[in-house]
Amino acid sequence: MPLPPNSPSKPVVLPPLHILLVDDQASTRQVLVAQLHAAGHTVQEADSAESALSLFRAQAPDLVLLDVEMPGHDGYWVASQLRASEAGGWTPIIFLSSLNQDHNLWQAIESGGDDYLVKPVSGTVLQAKLRAMQRLRRMQNRLIELSDELRIANEQLTRISHEDALTALPNRRGFDLRLQQEILAAQREQAPLTLVLCDIDFFKGYNDSLGHVEGDACLHTLGRLLQGMCRRPRDYPARYGGEEFALILPCTPRSGAMTFARALLRTLELKAIPHPRSSIAPYLTLSGGITTCLPDKTTSAEGLLRRADEALYAAKSRGRNCFFSFEMQMDTREQRNAGRAASSGFGGLT
Ligand SMILES: [Mg+2]
Repeated sequence: MPLPPNSPSKPVVLPPLHILLVDDQASTRQVLVAQLHAAGHTVQEADSAESALSLFRAQAPDLVLLDVEMPGHDGYWVASQLRASEAGGWTPIIFLSSLNQDHNLWQAIESGGDDYLVKPVSGTVLQAKLRAMQRLRRMQNRLIELSDELRIANEQLTRISHEDALTALPNRRGFDLRLQQEILAAQREQAPLTLVLCDIDFFKGYNDSLGHVEGDACLHTLGRLLQGMCRRPRDYPARYGGEEFALILPCTPRSGAMTFARALLRTLELKAIPHPRSSIAPYLTLSGGITTCLPDKTTSAEGLLRRADEALYAAKSRGRNCFFSFEMQMDTREQRNAGRAASSGFGGLT
């Protein structure tokens, strides 16, 4: 770009603009195009309001140079249409007009213009105005980038705040949020909702005998195992706290929940993670409480959690290494026998 005369310092290099030049006079456009090309910009020409609008939509220019007086719709109308068509965006509009009254400038700014130059415009003044608009545009782009970075950082923060660092499962915060959502979804869908709370048997003894590093590794392994058991997209395993895990199983009836729990215990039996301090098995086991309901307006997360917790307590008192459901009035051992008799399976009826 050629330097304006007596320029005090070397100008900052700004990227060239793609300019939409709107003027009904071919001779005016010719002069301006030559000036803009000399400054390194690319130019698209429109000779009417209508062609200006269609080129603006098709080309998305960086800046619009806009004549005021044109046959048919004038430049003010064009500016208001351009502003209406870019919701949330901002393309600089500089009016070029032979009208030099204050009210002309006022109307130009009111209709959506950013600047107003009286024709004939000197090349230096035009270049200076374009540079000012380029700087504003650069700041605007930086603001958009910063706002994108902020949005991404916020999303990461939300994800981290809902995740348990040790198991990479959702934590209590994420679980509470999801349980509320699934209660509402089950109400809408009139579908059974199952909540499972489970707890590692004799985990204090596990930590005492093997140390907390092994204890953490065990929690991590169990987290992976629960994640692997949740095959449907809306099944939601979470670390509820300490050695307690919670599972939300949408669209899961009572019998299906019990069969799920039985499969979980069987998987643990096959995995056979050694547990040196368990008085019920040589390997790691779980006890669990299950509650299943068809949620209505009175169903609350607190109520479901209380019921699952009471069922967990019942499973512990029934000898551990089993899951109990008050709704079915049986634990997983009894359900296995009932299942043999009735051939009920996961996904069966409530
Ligand atoms: Mg004109």
